[in-house]
Amino acid sequence: MNKENAPFRNSDGKGWEDHGPRNLSRDQENPDILVPPATDNGTMSNMRFSFSDAHNRLEEGGWAREVTNRELPISQDVAGVNMSLEPGAYRELHWHKEAEWGYMLYGNARVTAIDEKGRSFIDDVQEGDLWNFEEGIPHSIQALDKGCEFLLVFSDANFSENKTLLLSDWLAHTPKDIVAANFKKSTEEIESFPKKQKYIFKGEVPGPISEVKRFNSNGDVPDPFTYHLSQKAPTVDSEAGKVWIVDQSVFPIAKTISGAFVEVEPGGMRELHWHPYSSEWQYYVQGTAKMTIFNSNSLARTFDFKAGDVGYVPSVAGHYVLNTGDEPLRFIEVFKTADYADISLNKWLATTPSQIVADHLNISKEFAESLPDPEGPAPVIWYDESKDDKFNW
Ligand code: MN
Ligand code: MN
Repeated sequence: MNKENAPFRNSDGKGWEDHGPRNLSRDQENPDILVPPATDNGTMSNMRFSFSDAHNRLEEGGWAREVTNRELPISQDVAGVNMSLEPGAYRELHWHKEAEWGYMLYGNARVTAIDEKGRSFIDDVQEGDLWNFEEGIPHSIQALDKGCEFLLVFSDANFSENKTLLLSDWLAHTPKDIVAANFKKSTEEIESFPKKQKYIFKGEVPGPISEVKRFNSNGDVPDPFTYHLSQKAPTVDSEAGKVWIVDQSVFPIAKTISGAFVEVEPGGMRELHWHPYSSEWQYYVQGTAKMTIFNSNSLARTFDFKAGDVGYVPSVAGHYVLNTGDEPLRFIEVFKTADYADISLNKWLATTPSQIVADHLNISKEFAESLPDPEGPAPVIWYDESKDDKFNW
């Protein structure tokens, strides 16, 4: 039999040839779905959706696409949007009932907002930086000289980027004399107001913030709505990779959503762990990975990921993330909790009396005592590829 590209597992000889029809490039992108590890078991929902399979809304000056629970039904906590703006282009002044947590993937942008006390905020962000707008806070995003691309995460899985409340949309759907009276102008003076929503539109790249004129009678917001993660040292720094944790302990304005930014070297692995309070919504920024999700009733399923994919882990489900490529893997873990929390398998076993661990795992006490005791939030460790359950390409 021809085992090349076939759904055939070397370790136990299960499977056979695939004579088609088949989408070979997709099969090859998903080696652990075509040939699951023998340890996978049971029927588990799909835990992955790629932004490449999401509808893209093209506008003059940019685009936006979303992965919500319409695309990934298992995800019930948050939704994600991937958006890009050319230099000077705007995502127009708007607001929504969901909290918004944003991460700059490329380029630079200027964000503005005010809070419910009329205090204002303006800041420039670059690749690797974050912003956060809690529910109902009005804001805008404008690309600077490089243009920009960013990931947005919203605190409702049903969210749609096409259902926000927009300045232009509101005024276009309010009687003209009311709008005029509101601004103490005549209806002729507001004739140029847009007749429908602008959403994304072209603009000029603005000058530096120091030259921007603005009324700021109530002062600035007490806690910034941005977090310059690009300039921060990692929370965990090991040979196999790094982790940056961003939650309300360092970014106090982010009261709804927290995140971990993970970098894993080739051969490195985000170790076995789970999160006690929240599901995990992932976005893959760079490289390739595989993840096995374990849940009760012996359920286990393995997925493969590439840059641009979204992954999902149900609350308390065990998982690891392995870098399967030859470049650093970068991904983001997002949680709908103000505080980041995880429980490390290694830490758990290392801090449990060694006789108890020995009795559970059929090992000696000495072996149990030799299990690693990681420091800090579940870090990244090395993976021994020679023990992999090989697939056939
Ligand atoms: Mn928004
Ligand atoms: Mn995790």
